[in-house]
Amino acid sequence: MKIIMLGAPGAGKGTQAKMISDKYKIPHISTGDIFRANIKNGTELGTKAKSYMDQGLLVPDELVVDLVVDRLQQEDCRNGYILDGFPRTIPQAESLEAALKNLNEKIEFALNIEVPDEKIVKRMAGRRACGSCSATYHIENVPPKVEGICDICKGNLIIRDDDRPETVKKRLDVYHEQTQPLIQYYEDKKILVNIDGTQEMMEVFNNIISILEA
Ligand SMILES: [Zn+2]
Repeated sequence: MKIIMLGAPGAGKGTQAKMISDKYKIPHISTGDIFRANIKNGTELGTKAKSYMDQGLLVPDELVVDLVVDRLQQEDCRNGYILDGFPRTIPQAESLEAALKNLNEKIEFALNIEVPDEKIVKRMAGRRACGSCSATYHIENVPPKVEGICDICKGNLIIRDDDRPETVKKRLDVYHEQTQPLIQYYEDKKILVNIDGTQEMMEVFNNIISILEA
């Protein structure tokens, strides 16, 4: 089960990826985790990546793909994996495909969690975080017992800058511009599966399972 997760920030793909990972015992892989592990272990690739990051430069696609492919060859990926947040662009997708082809492998599913922008903006606008202990709430889905007050430490709840509509809209614009072409790319490869992400979390998950097990 080799899966790529696609979907806008706030569409819930991270949550679904984690649920898939738990159910099928396959690793949920993000590039951030790969970077951290390689830098921590002082690997050759990690050292290279760090030298770019220390200069405030973006890590080049080629190196990112090397790091990802290296990760995908580890023992725990034998039965599959879920890539979350990578690839982000067509060149990355092409490099990944070429690198996997060399290993006689390929991605089997590109799961695209679809949620309209307005809904994402609305979802994010309902998030609240405790200013003291960082516990998170949602005014509709996970409300605190007393409005505006943290259940745990009685701190004041705030709206994080990341959750403000202006910020969310900007991130969605970047997503549509950069990552949405990937949807067409995987459609052309006949591995794209669109999932309605506006439903309840468990319904979304059950839809995903029925597709993976079809
Ligand atoms: Zn708190």
